Amino acid sequence: MSHDPNCIFCKIVAGQIPSKKAYEDEHLLAFHDIHPWAPVHVLIIPKQHIATHAELGTEHAELAGRMLLLAPRLMKELGVGNGFRTVINTGPDGGQEVYHLHMHVMGGPRPWLKG
Ligand code: AMP
Ligand code: ZN
Repeated sequence: MSHDPNCIFCKIVAGQIPSKKAYEDEHLLAFHDIHPWAPVHVLIIPKQHIATHAELGTEHAELAGRMLLLAPRLMKELGVGNGFRTVINTGPDGGQEVYHLHMHVMGGPRPWLKG
């Protein structure tokens, strides 16, 4: 599984940086965002290092599907019952700050800090 030693989310996967985990399996990790915009704000990431959404290929179709399927399941587990928002920022103009693919999943009662 590809791993970038300089990547902060790879370090979270490896347990070198602490995180508040919400879900983990062989392929994926979900943890609470350190600067939440919403009452519940988790990041779903693949354990393997893929820098951006733009780098996903057909070989990642199953992994991408797993990420998409986890979001509603996790929100339900976390008690979010009135809808949620998913966001993937890609590249400089997409506002991506951490270059390890991640899906923001946000829910909980409004108002939220952003969006
Ligand atoms: P993006 O702009 O989509 O790349 O967002 C990166 C997100 O990662 C931001 O919402 C940050 O608050 C979050 N983040 C950065 N470092 C950590 C960390 N160590 N633990 C949890 N969330 C983090
Ligand atoms: Zn990484």
